[in-house]
Amino acid sequence: MDLQLRGKVALVIAASKGLGKATARQFAREGAKVAICARSELIDKTAAEIANETDTQVLSLRADVTNQADIERVINTTVEKFGGLDILVTNAGGPPAGTFDDIDLATWETSLNLTLLSAVRLVKYALPHLRQSTAAAILTITSTSTKQPVQNLVLSNSLRLAVIGLTKTLSQELGNDKIRVNSILPGWTYTERVEELINAQITKTGETKQAEITKINAKVPLGRMGTPEEFANVAVFLSSPAASFVNGVMLQVDGGIIQGTF
Ligand code: NAD
Repeated sequence: MDLQLRGKVALVIAASKGLGKATARQFAREGAKVAICARSELIDKTAAEIANETDTQVLSLRADVTNQADIERVINTTVEKFGGLDILVTNAGGPPAGTFDDIDLATWETSLNLTLLSAVRLVKYALPHLRQSTAAAILTITSTSTKQPVQNLVLSNSLRLAVIGLTKTLSQELGNDKIRVNSILPGWTYTERVEELINAQITKTGETKQAEITKINAKVPLGRMGTPEEFANVAVFLSSPAASFVNGVMLQVDGGIIQGTF
């Protein structure tokens, strides 16, 4: 199947590693021009790595998604460099792990900024350019925590539902502009974020790392965590013109862990 991505411009946020990096790499393999951003110099290394592996242009931008000026610069530089914007993938590092009792009010505010307001700002600045595109799509990376709360992740369980509300609303409001808006919901996918969560869990339970991994695997009907590449294949399809009649969908990529029928 031709995903019709050659020459299209995709901006993938928070892409120096993990799910964002894998998604950016897959866009590049499909021939899209790719802009990626993250806070540290690792983003330059990631961009060089993807550019070396593929035959497309990769733009590296240093930016913190909690900073409005950074977001404005990321969108403007992408459009200046590539002549437009077709696809926006919103993403950010996960908010801190913890129960309700663990999380203080200041952390709620910084996490709101990180998880919800970053997506709001990205869409605000991207929309004028997406409206010019004939293949416009927004994909929000959220989590299966929006379908079923995950233990010890009160911030993710709460704030990502707001991103789902935003996604679903935009899918209705932007239909006239021919902009598709969907969300992708990763389940357990082995990245550095998951390492962090496992380490946080070890601190509480005193179990070994392997024991925690085995416990996670046992929850997944397919008996294992996913890989970033498995996630990226779906993310790129969903954002591509090949999925031109898919709009307002919350798609789980989770090995079947969510048991609900909706
Ligand atoms: P990761 O920690 O491996 O990578 C996160 C990326 O975000 C990195 O590139 C990091 O540099 C960047 N980043 C973090 N804070 C940033 C900021 N303020 N500004 C710019 N860039 C920033 O995480 P991941 O596993 O790739 O997950 C991506 C998102 O998906 C996270 O929000 C995570 O919580 C969520 N998620 C992941 C899983 C999973 O199993 N991996 C499951 C559900 C949800």
